[in-house]
Amino acid sequence: MSESGEAKTSAAEVDYEHLAAPEPNGEVSGIWPLTAQRADDGALTIGGVSVAQIASDFGTPVYVIDEVDFRTRAAAWKRAMDEAFADLAGADVYYACKAFASVGVCGWALEEGLRLDACSEGEMRTAFGAGAKGEQIGLHGNNKSRREIEMAIDNGVAHLVVDSLAELAHVADVAHWGDDGGTVAKVVLRVTAGIHAGGHEAISTGHEDQKFGLSIASGAAWEAICETQRNQRLELVGLHSHIGSQIFTPEAFSQAARALLDLRARTAAEFGVVLPEIDFGGGYGVRYTAADPVAPAPADYARALAAAVREHVEASGLAAPRVSIEPGRSIVAPAGVTVYSVGAIKDVPLEGGKSRKYVAVDGGMSDNIRTALYDAAYTAALANRESDAPSAVTRVVGKHCESGDIVVRDVALPEDIAFGDILAVPVTGAYGRSMASNYNMLPRPGVLAVREGKAHWLIYQEEVPDLLSLDADYIGE
Ligand SMILES: *Cc1c(COP(=O)(O)O)cnc(C)c1O
Repeated sequence: MSESGEAKTSAAEVDYEHLAAPEPNGEVSGIWPLTAQRADDGALTIGGVSVAQIASDFGTPVYVIDEVDFRTRAAAWKRAMDEAFADLAGADVYYACKAFASVGVCGWALEEGLRLDACSEGEMRTAFGAGAKGEQIGLHGNNKSRREIEMAIDNGVAHLVVDSLAELAHVADVAHWGDDGGTVAKVVLRVTAGIHAGGHEAISTGHEDQKFGLSIASGAAWEAICETQRNQRLELVGLHSHIGSQIFTPEAFSQAARALLDLRARTAAEFGVVLPEIDFGGGYGVRYTAADPVAPAPADYARALAAAVREHVEASGLAAPRVSIEPGRSIVAPAGVTVYSVGAIKDVPLEGGKSRKYVAVDGGMSDNIRTALYDAAYTAALANRESDAPSAVTRVVGKHCESGDIVVRDVALPEDIAFGDILAVPVTGAYGRSMASNYNMLPRPGVLAVREGKAHWLIYQEEVPDLLSLDADYIGE
């Protein structure tokens, strides 16, 4: 799994076989977006648009999102869940906005029948900007502000996912407030079932010693359920778990599902309350390089979850809950590619007489922090041309003032790669732009949608004056 490995610093340990980017082939399980192809002249095209043309028309670095790929994945999740839960109480798919949110992309998700999972005022307003109604939005977060809770309640969001006992009190307090004598907040409790799945520690959330959720084992989850039954400002509508990210095993989800459903049965037995919703979160893995496994299909996860729900319904005799899930990465990551221009190149000698080619691009850790943050693996390919030159062990680095500023740690690229070539790094649609920073006062790259030979902005390119516009004038002594 790409986010669990040790740093591959020694060239001898590198998995050469999986270094090169596979050729784009129009397979949805592949590493390139669905519509990516090589044109006759060898240039990479996405959505019928030449990546080299994008670079010259719009500049680099720039993120490119294949609209057809995004919609195909979103629709596949929706269809898989609808089919698997047709004989139960149905299902909703919430697109996790944190993976990548823009008004345009939220609009695509809504058109494909998805709802939106937001975890801040900004994400909620992006969803509203795309025309989402309150009931199409779920609000998450482990430390929601009063303003965020008010916005959610005032707009009738589907549910607030509450993360702790302190937050439960906070939500009840906000619900109580106002001239009209207050309202009732529909809450879902985020519980942790002690399941540790997925990659890097920073994105693994189902186990106990981390900041998220109400632990089942410690009794906090049960205490929170009891509190909702005492407090008239709170309507408990369901339970939620999110076990981590980059998970490739449907069994991890069904295991968490069983823990959640046991808690639902206990709530029914103790209080006579049959919770109408169960939310199994996101975290479905994607393939970043050829060394990663091919991700299971949405239907594989959907069937595993439906089997757990069916078992629960049969064992408990309770009515089936409506189920929701929150995929982010698995919808948007493979739809996105980052396009860079190649700048300075240097060969650095390694032990054993070998050398590594360092290829610097015009972005870096400010547009993709995942390599530095999670030791994530990516691949890259020459986008403006094909080359028959032998491949060289290459590291793609950025232009920031840090040696950890690495975009692609190890990749095989043609040894004739040169200044001015265009490089495409695939599977950057998720957690790229959404985690981008202005480190070194670099403007964040814009995001282009491509489809049927046309490109248009989803998010405009930021410019240096945009950054400076927030600087207060110098006052002097
Ligand atoms: C991050 C997150 C998601 C989405 O995770 P992916 O790995 O992008 O699918 C969904 N739900 C919650 C609560 C999250 O924190």
